[in-house]
Amino acid sequence: MAVPDKIQTWQMVRPWSKDRETGKVTEGLLEKKEIPVPELQPGESLVEIAGCGVCHTDLGYFYDGVPTVSKPPLTLGHEISGTVVAGDLEGKDVIIPAVMPCNRCPICEGGRGNRCLAQKMPGNSLGIYGGFSSHIVVPSQDLCVIEDRKGLPLSHYAVVADAVTTPYQAAMRADLKEGDRVVVIGCTGGVGVYMTQMAKALGASFVIGIARSQEKLERALKYGADAVINSRDKDAKAVQGEFREICKSNDLPHNWGWKIFEVSGTSAGQEMALRLLSFVGKLVVVGFGMAKNEYSISRLMAFDAEIIGTWGCLPQYYPVVLELVQSGKIQIEPFLETRPMSTIQEAFEEAHSGKLMRRIVLEPDF
Ligand SMILES: [Zn+2]
Ligand SMILES: [Zn+2]
Repeated sequence: MAVPDKIQTWQMVRPWSKDRETGKVTEGLLEKKEIPVPELQPGESLVEIAGCGVCHTDLGYFYDGVPTVSKPPLTLGHEISGTVVAGDLEGKDVIIPAVMPCNRCPICEGGRGNRCLAQKMPGNSLGIYGGFSSHIVVPSQDLCVIEDRKGLPLSHYAVVADAVTTPYQAAMRADLKEGDRVVVIGCTGGVGVYMTQMAKALGASFVIGIARSQEKLERALKYGADAVINSRDKDAKAVQGEFREICKSNDLPHNWGWKIFEVSGTSAGQEMALRLLSFVGKLVVVGFGMAKNEYSISRLMAFDAEIIGTWGCLPQYYPVVLELVQSGKIQIEPFLETRPMSTIQEAFEEAHSGKLMRRIVLEPDF
């Protein structure tokens, strides 16, 4: 197959920054570059990238001062699908897991490899390499092979690398079971739309979605949510009041057993989540933000409740998630759009504005 001389890539030369003393803002810079193809080591594959999703995490690195493990310049992008053109699995279409464990350390051996400390994440900790490129070299062991594209463009499968799999791991952390009652806070975001569908696909009996965009909330009602709460201009107490109303009119208990997924990463969302957490409930923190919250943790003791963090997704779950997508239990088509990778700057800006209805998947057009 075609092995390139060079990798074409859109590097983040520098992220946006603000000088602490002078307050002077330096604009972030993405630049098209040519970089050498790293020599393939045993156990590695060279993947020709079909698509790479623009994730909130990338925007955090570029705009909001969240540091990457590898220092810039590096290429962002960790939501990747493509075709292996050299190395193991040559000729196969694959999804590259957003985080790839070392598979050797005690954390990995203990079944918690999604948070392995030696893990590699493209666009963050895989040297300078990331998904907004023509090609990438990755460990082969955990690649998820797509044997049959089922008529979908390969690039669309990029969203499975992170946006769809992260909710599956979160559901496993919550021990989500048939008949569970679920709240998804931030149910309309890039990961939230799949968290909502995932809860339903795994058998939740009632799913309440909370977010601020009415248009997106109405869409959520078609994709997993049984009821929605528009939290725009409402405080946590008002949201809790609406939550209780919904419980009452659906004959559901409001004060026990709810599994709450906080996907927004905002302080308002986290405050709502803490407020809704009640007896024998679980709160799973899926979204990332820099907010700090105040909470009386003794409530957990009184409630016999849990707050759980979740990070990425174990590669072993990817085939299960792929099956959920290919069987139609989880819909990806209504939630993504593809664009040429050369529009990366505009794509980042639009995604950062938060107004997009669909996640952008960039397709290489070097
Ligand atoms: Zn991501
Ligand atoms: Zn490990």
